Amino acid sequence: MNEPHEKNIFQKIIDREVPADIVYEDDKTLAFMDVAPVLPGHVLVIPKQDVESIFDADAETFAALMETVRKLAPAIRDAVGAKGVNINSNHGEAAGQEVMRLHFHVIPRHDRSELKFWPHTTIPQAELQAIAEKIRNQLAN
Ligand code: AMP
Repeated sequence: MNEPHEKNIFQKIIDREVPADIVYEDDKTLAFMDVAPVLPGHVLVIPKQDVESIFDADAETFAALMETVRKLAPAIRDAVGAKGVNINSNHGEAAGQEVMRLHFHVIPRHDRSELKFWPHTTIPQAELQAIAEKIRNQLAN
């Protein structure tokens, strides 16, 4: 949970202080059109609880958010006649998060060539295994 702070833009949308094209709402989540869509039909899904990112979301809030994403994905896909969706979420400035309020992007996709991301790299097997070991250790703590 965030410390008391000035309302960010997504809280203002929840509170109807800033207009948004809302497509879905329930007691825990809200979904609305991204004002600067990556592709037409780009929707943002947010929790009503004021959490900054995955790092401070509780399990219940996160589960509700995921359930809304699950519900909306086929509706968004079919509304624009797309064939798939990208579900993307940035957590922390270093990861490209600009609005510091937990959110998921749902972006409908028609074909692979319209958008390219996730450039893959190669990594020595030993380095990959060492990182895997560190992650397992973190989970064990
Ligand atoms: P991120 O970079 O993951 O933090 O994404 C923030 C997203 O919020 C961007 O895709 C913006 O276009 C979108 N956004 C910012 N302000 C608004 C707004 N007032 N209404 C709808 N979408 C917004």
